[in-house]
Amino acid sequence: YVELRHINKSFGDFQASNDVSFTVEKGSLVGLLGPSGSGKTTILRILAGLETADSGEIYINGKLVNNIPANKRGIGFVFQSYALFRYMTVFDNIAFGLRTKKVPKDEIEEKVNSLIDLVGLTGLNKRYPTQLSGGQRQRVAFARALATEPSLLLLDEPFAAIDAKVRKELRSWLKDLIQRVGITSIFVTHDQSEAIEVADQIIITNHGHVERSGSPIEIYSNPESSFVTKFIGQPT
Ligand code: ATP
Repeated sequence: YVELRHINKSFGDFQASNDVSFTVEKGSLVGLLGPSGSGKTTILRILAGLETADSGEIYINGKLVNNIPANKRGIGFVFQSYALFRYMTVFDNIAFGLRTKKVPKDEIEEKVNSLIDLVGLTGLNKRYPTQLSGGQRQRVAFARALATEPSLLLLDEPFAAIDAKVRKELRSWLKDLIQRVGITSIFVTHDQSEAIEVADQIIITNHGHVERSGSPIEIYSNPESSFVTKFIGQPT
C-alpha cells in the first residue's frame, strides 16, 4: 500500500536517509521509532512530498508518486506543534481544506460537524485554539487532517508537546480512532513505550537506515541486533 524503495537523501555531506526501504499494509498503524537525528522526520517529509529524495522510489496505493506534488498525494498530516490557524475557530480550522477544494457549503457543514463529534469536541465549534487545552488542539489537528479523506495519515510526534497524563489518554484514543476510520497511518516517535503500545508495526531507524522492522512482539522477542536490544531497553 505504501512502499519506499532504496531511498537516499543527503543534506550536504550528511546522509539523513541511507537506502531506506519498507512497506506498510493498508489500514495499519506504523510507528517510526528511533533516536534523535536517526532520520525519522526526513522519511516522513519525503513520503509527504515536502522533501525530494536523491534516489529511490515512493509508491502510494501502487502508484509511483516521486513526481507528484505534496498537495496531490492524498496525505493528511499532524505535526508536533498544533499548527492550527490561530484566528480561526475550531469549525473553520477543520473546514479549511474542504473550502479550498470548493466543497458545497452544506456538505462542509455536515462533514465538519461529524468530524467534531468523531474527535470528541462536540459543542466546541466556535472556540479559538487559544481557548483549548493542548490535547483538544491536537484533536482539532486530527479532525483537520482527516477532513479531506486522505488515503494516508502522517503524524510527527503528535503528542510530544502534551503533558504525560493526557498523552497516555490521547494515545489510546488515537489508536481507537484510526482503527474506526480505517486509515493507513505512520507516526514518528522516539518513545519506545509509545510505539509498542500504539503501533501494529514498528520500523526502527538508526543513522538514516532501517535497523529492524516488525510487529512489537516480533521485535521484543527477536531484536536481531544489539542496537535494537539496547534501544528497546531489553536486557541482553
Ligand atoms: P528527531 O527525533 O530529533 O526529530 P529525526 O530522527 O526525526 O530526529 P531528522 O529530523 O530526520 O531526524 O534528521 C536527521 C538528520 O538530518 C539530523 O541530523 C538533521 O540535522 C539533518 N537534517 C534534517 N533536515 C535537514 C535540512 N533541511 N538541512 C540540513 N540537515 C538536515
